[in-house]
Amino acid sequence: MTIPTENVGSLPRPAKLQTAIADYDAGKISREELKHEQDAACLDSIKRMEATGSPIVSDGEQRASSFATYPLTDTLAGTGLAPNLATDGQYFAIFTDGHHRQLPRLTGGPFHYKTFAAEYVKEAVKIATKPLKQAVIAPSMLSLLYPLDGKVDGYPRERFLEDLCNECEQDIRKCFDAGAKRISIDFTEGRLACRNDPRNPWTGRKMLEQFIELNNRVIDRFSAVERKNIGIHTCPGGDLDSTHSADVDYAELLPSMFMMNAGYFLIQLASEKDKERVYKMCGEHSRVDANGIPQICFIGVIDPLSPRVETPEQVQADLVTAARYIPKERLGSTDDCGFSPFSIDMKPKHGSPDVARDIAFRKIAARVKGTAMASEKLGVA
Ligand SMILES: [Zn+2]
Repeated sequence: MTIPTENVGSLPRPAKLQTAIADYDAGKISREELKHEQDAACLDSIKRMEATGSPIVSDGEQRASSFATYPLTDTLAGTGLAPNLATDGQYFAIFTDGHHRQLPRLTGGPFHYKTFAAEYVKEAVKIATKPLKQAVIAPSMLSLLYPLDGKVDGYPRERFLEDLCNECEQDIRKCFDAGAKRISIDFTEGRLACRNDPRNPWTGRKMLEQFIELNNRVIDRFSAVERKNIGIHTCPGGDLDSTHSADVDYAELLPSMFMMNAGYFLIQLASEKDKERVYKMCGEHSRVDANGIPQICFIGVIDPLSPRVETPEQVQADLVTAARYIPKERLGSTDDCGFSPFSIDMKPKHGSPDVARDIAFRKIAARVKGTAMASEKLGVA
């Protein structure tokens, strides 16, 4: 049993696929032609991730419009938007470089997913020779589809939340049924909830506790055995090589975050200024017994927003330091975030999405190697 290592989910979409998405939005190519490009990108992603030596792989979310909107729309531009939604919802986030990403808006009930993540798993299992992971979106993020104030005609908020929880539960169950071994829930809105950005009203509403409660409404529907393989991912965002909440102190998030009854946590850390302080907080607040299971802390050792490739020695050093604060049997490694959570992402600091893909695989290989070195050093091998 070595120190476990796992990616968050996404990889940059190849430039060719991003062009195909734009052509599909413009009506120049068919759904089948777009799928052809997605198939090619998924095949390349899985093969190259397997070549890094990673013990678990994913399709890099090459078919998803984004980590948050995949259940709702085929493309970020809104092509194939699910019923009862309009494109003009609230901001999800305003990033430090000034760009923003917007969510759809709920216009009526009932709320249903159009696409479950299991659809991606079903395709990926045909290709992968290693165990698969799949990322899904948290109910807390999608709760922001409901207008912040006021209500949707004939569809009270509580009925929406019940429908939402049912869909999120199904999203996870279907992934397990399709063959995913591990499922992590993207919770980037957790840290953002601790920020008060007047340009983005929901962030000023102190919503963290209700997010945690809502997510537990779904997580608690799973057995202890299942929850061992259900994770939570936290980060300060990662889009166009920019973040949305890196200035929020982890002390505001972590004590609440570990109250979610998940079995593991994928925690951005490589790009933190004071890593040791955060390792310490993870050690203090992660639980040995979260309703029957221990919580494993996967610390971020790779920064997907930076083109600089970490060395295996750096990865090893981070894990060895972290092991002073987090028991080594509850320690893992991960990337700080997906490499491109949104499908259209030119990876400006990298020069191009294709260059960024090459760099991503080199970074993943460094994580895998450095984690093996740390396992040996810490006697976990
Ligand atoms: Zn992330």
